[in-house]
Amino acid sequence: MTKTLLLSFLIIIVSCHNPEKTTTKMNKNPLLASWNTPFGVPPFDKIKSTDYLPALQQAMELHNNEIATIVNNKAKPSFKNTIEALELSGQKYYQVSKLFFAVTAANTDSILKATEKEIVPAMTAHNDEIQLNEALFKRIKAVYDKKDSLTLSNDDLFLLEETYKGYVKAGVNLQGANKTKLKSINKELAALKIQFAANLLDETNAYELHVTAKEDLGELSESLVALAAEEAKKRGHQSGWSFTLQRPSINPFLATSPNRELRNKLYHASAMRGDNDNAKDNKKVLEKIASLRVAKAQLLGFDSWADRVLVDNMAATPAHVYNLLDKLWSPALAMAKKDEKALTKMLHNDDIKGALNGADWRYYVAKIRAKKYNFNEDETKPYFEFTRVRDGAFNLANKLFGLTFKARKDIPTWHKDQQVFEVLEASGKHLGVIYMDFFARESKKGGAWMNELRAQFNVAHFVTPIVTNNFNFPAPTAGNPSLLTFREAQTVFHEFGHALHGLLSNVKYERFSGTNVPRDFVEFPSQVMENWMSEPKVLATYAKHYKTGEVIPPDLIAKMNAANSFDEGFRTVEYMAAAYLDMKWHTLKTTALQETRSFEKQAMDKIGLIPAIIPRYRSTYYSHIFSGGYSSGYYAYMWSEVLDADTFNTFKQSGDIFNPILAKKYRAMLAAGGSKKGEQLYQDFLGRAPKIEPLLIKKGFLKGK
Ligand SMILES: [Zn+2]
Repeated sequence: MTKTLLLSFLIIIVSCHNPEKTTTKMNKNPLLASWNTPFGVPPFDKIKSTDYLPALQQAMELHNNEIATIVNNKAKPSFKNTIEALELSGQKYYQVSKLFFAVTAANTDSILKATEKEIVPAMTAHNDEIQLNEALFKRIKAVYDKKDSLTLSNDDLFLLEETYKGYVKAGVNLQGANKTKLKSINKELAALKIQFAANLLDETNAYELHVTAKEDLGELSESLVALAAEEAKKRGHQSGWSFTLQRPSINPFLATSPNRELRNKLYHASAMRGDNDNAKDNKKVLEKIASLRVAKAQLLGFDSWADRVLVDNMAATPAHVYNLLDKLWSPALAMAKKDEKALTKMLHNDDIKGALNGADWRYYVAKIRAKKYNFNEDETKPYFEFTRVRDGAFNLANKLFGLTFKARKDIPTWHKDQQVFEVLEASGKHLGVIYMDFFARESKKGGAWMNELRAQFNVAHFVTPIVTNNFNFPAPTAGNPSLLTFREAQTVFHEFGHALHGLLSNVKYERFSGTNVPRDFVEFPSQVMENWMSEPKVLATYAKHYKTGEVIPPDLIAKMNAANSFDEGFRTVEYMAAAYLDMKWHTLKTTALQETRSFEKQAMDKIGLIPAIIPRYRSTYYSHIFSGGYSSGYYAYMWSEVLDADTFNTFKQSGDIFNPILAKKYRAMLAAGGSKKGEQLYQDFLGRAPKIEPLLIKKGFLKGK
């Protein structure tokens, strides 16, 4: 459920669809030619996997030439010839990069995989060359130093300041040996991150639990049994059922199998990913990453890696992150401990002695859900058919912002299952384009995410946005529609919230467009949508039985909500333990190599984590922070949650969850993207700082009024 930021340097992106001069050689490659398509969308019907590598290489060269032109300009450095020129440079390069990362994530193949391996290190080096270019920085600094005497608009001044700070933060001021050291650290870090991800993928894919006795499947639903049988065949078994470490496979097994030994086995395999002292072990890899990050941060004048990362976030310092985490930790842990007691009782009632473990937790929680709440996910699924859920999200955008969505069959896609919609304002004016890719397939990575194929910006003229939403839902088959669980339906609204952030953008510079906001702000516009989607008024618009059209009955909603909110203590504790672990690794002030297992134990002992719960991610498979872009940033989901709970509560308190005045202000905040600091955006929106109480009430940690 993320908005992918991919490689951090892609945040500074400029892409444009206006026709521009290209050489004849370039025109042969559809990625580099001008696009004669509706709204200037990418011509996916003409682009082949083999086009990406040469296009990226040529676009990189073009980008270098543009940088050289800025650096070699004989005229004195000015805002226009340096800052704006730099912002507008690399249009082709960033445009092709966006497409490349979108397609490799959603519809990869062996050519794209090989291209990725070859091009990503080159892209890292390319980024370094620009960010550490002293001659370029000299010009940036010359403009920055005289900023007070220039009459710049707010947008221009913010761009100047952020550009300057970005270069300083990247290390452009380092000299001689230190600069060489930085480059070598960057290179080593890039390679280690790739290794971490590759090890984890191999460990995850290699594992299977092969089950041969039907009774060990318990009450696993028919469709999941069929999937497990298919998995077993795929892995060369004549019969039986195979379970893997992928969430959709492991979670239902842990919840339903009556065989405790098998549950423990599968759970243990998951918890030990990357920690098996074999060739794929990630301990040494991550220990080195943590150490190199300290070295890099200190080279750049920061105490720790977290200090360096957080300066750009709303939280600003590690102390502010801990302040938030500490406020929620005790009530969450207390709630989890209370649940642990109840679950342990159930374990003992089953004549099993000893302590409750993590596998038992999932099993008995499912039992409570079924018994106490009489709730079974299969009851609600018929009300969440995927096209109805999609239309429910569209309808919400219509209620709040007056937007409408028009299906377009004439727009080329990267896969036949992709759906494309033109987004229109209430006035009928074109706003942008959204691609939606719903179904799981082998060429797609797991999870759900949003990315932009073209960001909105408005320098010479208004460029409209093109965004995508990607999911991994089961595809419908003949006679079987694609029915979603409540959580999956929530994911549709979540990713759609990211999409709206991109679509409603109205900024001058692409660098600040839409979702290009601080990490601890970016999940706010997506998570806030989850509040609306479960409101009875909104459910009534889309949660209709796929056969009868009957709206989901209120008592079923109540039952579902009660069952879903049960176990909030566990969910919060599991998440927060991972957030603490992330902070622990990244507030290190020493480059001395740490020993993963003892480091982790110490970190968890410090917060008093109970043995029956382990962090949502243990270090050895914590790809968010060791191979993704979330280092010192896993807390961000909760930070954003404070904002979304407060925002939705404000709508609710107003007596109208679609309050048009609030909706207009909310839209203005989304439109501003990252062109202002997060605190300022929020202040402009509600006229005050965010309040934490609505989140505490929502989580059941504080009694509501
Ligand atoms: Zn998200």
